[in-house]
Amino acid sequence: MTGPTYKIVIVGAGPVGLAVGALLAASRACERLQISIIDAGTAPHWETEQLDLRVYALSRASQQILDAAGAWRAIAGQRMSPYRRMQIWEGATWRHSGKLQFDSVAVGEPDLGAIVEDSLIRSALSSVIEANPRIEIRRSTTVADVQVRDGCIELLTASAEQGVTANLLVAADGAQSAVRKRMDFKALERDYQQQAIVAHIESEAKHAATAWQRFLPGGPLAFLPLADGRSSIVWSLPNAEAAALMETDAPQFERALGHASGGVLGALRLSSRRVSLPLRAQHALSYCQPRVALAGDAAHTVHPLAGQGMNLGLQDAWSLAQAIEAAVLSGQDPGDLRVLRRYERARKAENLAMLAAFDGIDRLFRAPRALAPLRLGGLNFVDRLPLLKRQLILRALGLSNQVERKRSDRWSQYGTLA
Ligand SMILES: Cc1cc2nc3c(=O)[nH]c(=O)nc-3n(C[C@H](O)[C@H](O)[C@H](O)COP(=O)(O)OP(=O)(O)OC[C@H]3O[C@@H](n4cnc5c(N)ncnc54)[C@H](O)[C@@H]3O)c2cc1C
Repeated sequence: MTGPTYKIVIVGAGPVGLAVGALLAASRACERLQISIIDAGTAPHWETEQLDLRVYALSRASQQILDAAGAWRAIAGQRMSPYRRMQIWEGATWRHSGKLQFDSVAVGEPDLGAIVEDSLIRSALSSVIEANPRIEIRRSTTVADVQVRDGCIELLTASAEQGVTANLLVAADGAQSAVRKRMDFKALERDYQQQAIVAHIESEAKHAATAWQRFLPGGPLAFLPLADGRSSIVWSLPNAEAAALMETDAPQFERALGHASGGVLGALRLSSRRVSLPLRAQHALSYCQPRVALAGDAAHTVHPLAGQGMNLGLQDAWSLAQAIEAAVLSGQDPGDLRVLRRYERARKAENLAMLAAFDGIDRLFRAPRALAPLRLGGLNFVDRLPLLKRQLILRALGLSNQVERKRSDRWSQYGTLA
């Protein structure tokens, strides 16, 4: 293939930045690209013996994207936990409450998604990238400055070694994105005044490949089924309550957790350390400027109540890689604002709609008790509408619209999950 070569620098080797790199490496534009990925952290370390505390519920769409990036087979071959059912409820116990149940059987799919470890996703994507001479990863390197010059972007790293000049900079440096701030992208923000406590637990009852979520006045409590029979909890609570719970000893924490879970999985035992993470919603008003594009948490951060942040970020990675590939193949500079606007148009409306939906759900379930009958009735009402539930499942799997079907067709070139 003849034509100019374009340089792309990706800041952030999180799952989204790595996915952009690996998708470009697998694209038809690869031989016309030279890609550098810069990350502040060290190389990912996935352990066979110990499950990472940070896990994600990955939709089918995310699995397809990771497969197109060349990483899904390695991930699925190592460790993942497909979940077949999701049970959501509000009220004292699972039996006596407003509840909504989803089952993969309703849409003829083998599962509703899979729980996968962060370090495994990063390791698998890094391996794909390290095997490609057109991409390099520089770790333990942070960005000190970014300047847009005539026809290129210059990036200076904190270690003050020589800078990087590129046609396009992709900022995938997470929720606190230094590039977003440095380039003065405006963002809407909401601090939920909540922390999410994350830990792994053992339970008396088997998780039965089911993800559970109970809405409590202080925030949702989720149980995600892990491959070794344990569950990962994500418990969102007001800051002060979360801080107090982080101070308790294991038996006190287990009692509080058992009470909050309504006993749905029987007696619970803490089997890992606990970490707490501040929760905020954030959405950049624009995802691009000439020669700069934001992706993943750098562009949008959502409440973890629907476990969708990573899924949305991987869809950004897919759309951005598609826009870059199309531009390069037609001889267009991938840093051109018209190219980046195509990516923005493909992603912004959906991300914003999801953010607004999760924000609305959070507000509804944290609203005063007087609204409880409405919430309970609403859950039970939706639960009795199989067609609507089917649409909700397809949407959560990322299989509901035309773009998603197109990606699915492309996915069929790579094989299926079976
Ligand atoms: C409690 C909780 C539970 C969640 N559960 C789910 C779930 O089940 N499913 C789901 O889809 N999503 C989930 N999410 C959301 C998910 O964690 C994020 O959406 C996802 O991690 C975003 O990936 P990213 O690659 O954009 O950013 P990150 O994972 O934050 O990666 C950013 C990378 O950039 C690097 N970096 C940062 N600053 C710099 C700099 N200045 N210079 C160079 N490098 C830099 C960092 O080292 C890091 O490697 C959850 C979030 C929380 C808080």
